[in-house]
Amino acid sequence: MSVWEIMGYELTIIGAGPAGYSASIYAGRSGIKTVVFDKIGGGGLALVSPNIENYAGFESISGAELMDKMQKHASKYADIHFIEEVKNITKNENLFTIETTNKSYLSKAVILCMGTEYRKLGIPGEQELQGKGVSYCATCDGFFFKEKKVAVVGGGNSALIEAIFLKQIGCKEVYLIHRRDQLRAEKTYEDEARAKQVRILLNKTVEKINGEQKVEYLETYDTKSSNKSKLPVDGIFISIGEVPQNTLAKELGVKLDEKGYIIVDRQQKTNVRGVYAAGDITGGLRQVITACAEGAIAALSSTEVLGKKYPY
Ligand code: NAP
Repeated sequence: MSVWEIMGYELTIIGAGPAGYSASIYAGRSGIKTVVFDKIGGGGLALVSPNIENYAGFESISGAELMDKMQKHASKYADIHFIEEVKNITKNENLFTIETTNKSYLSKAVILCMGTEYRKLGIPGEQELQGKGVSYCATCDGFFFKEKKVAVVGGGNSALIEAIFLKQIGCKEVYLIHRRDQLRAEKTYEDEARAKQVRILLNKTVEKINGEQKVEYLETYDTKSSNKSKLPVDGIFISIGEVPQNTLAKELGVKLDEKGYIIVDRQQKTNVRGVYAAGDITGGLRQVITACAEGAIAALSSTEVLGKKYPY
């Protein structure tokens, strides 16, 4: 039995999304004793994607089903600890101490796959009415708004996908509110949204979310005419991008770019020896398929500090 089997793990992966699952499969198959921690139940943001149609090999699959398959696959090769949050990582010589909500573990290498979290609008009413009509996930909460009026804020792919989904599940009226005069999303999503009668409101910002017990109406501002108006809705889905969950990386001295994403080289190495990063936390395309590829590369790169043979 090696010292690592007694004392801890050779490799610690933080975050059980596509990058973390893929990294653990490649690490396990390279004979690396690996643990994966996830503060919730795994899957990351891909979990709530209603339909993934660009992951090779699956013409159409829900995020939940794909993540379930990845979890089952990864658990053949690594110990996966759900609802165990990593609170702190320290490096001493060539050894990392990983402190979680349960205990401390030693590890010789770390892969950071913490992904991103939803960006907030930061307007009055947003925090107060969260869970009372304010949501960041149509797949999770859209069902409560069947036959009701809702608004989606944002002009990217996610916002369009949310708006289309809300129409599909039977919301009476779906507004898409975007701050500029054109959408950022792929044209196919825009075409589908228009075909489904999503009402696209351009050059508009939401200034305030109003309601006593639940969302009742939005105060909007027209950036072209400077007109203010009230839009009665039962729910608002805020889909304005994501921000990297980089606190642990910052504390470890890992270099970030100006938007807070981890800087990695082509081997997914960070500036701290023994620390790698993969998936949405490194920015880039933020696709399930690229996250998986980065996770695989990170796991194989970690063989350099683990004294393992590079298997390819
Ligand atoms: P995104 O592409 O960054 O779009 C965010 C949208 O929110 C933009 O339209 C932005 O406006 C708007 N926004 C940002 N901050 C705002 C604020 N404070 N107030 C109002 N609006 C604000 O984010 P995303 O749609 O979540 O997508 C994230 C990444 O995942 C992207 O790379 C996307 O391509 C990818 N993705 C891909 C797919 C797919 O391929 N099927 C599906 C989902 C997501 P501006 O346009 O004015 O900047």
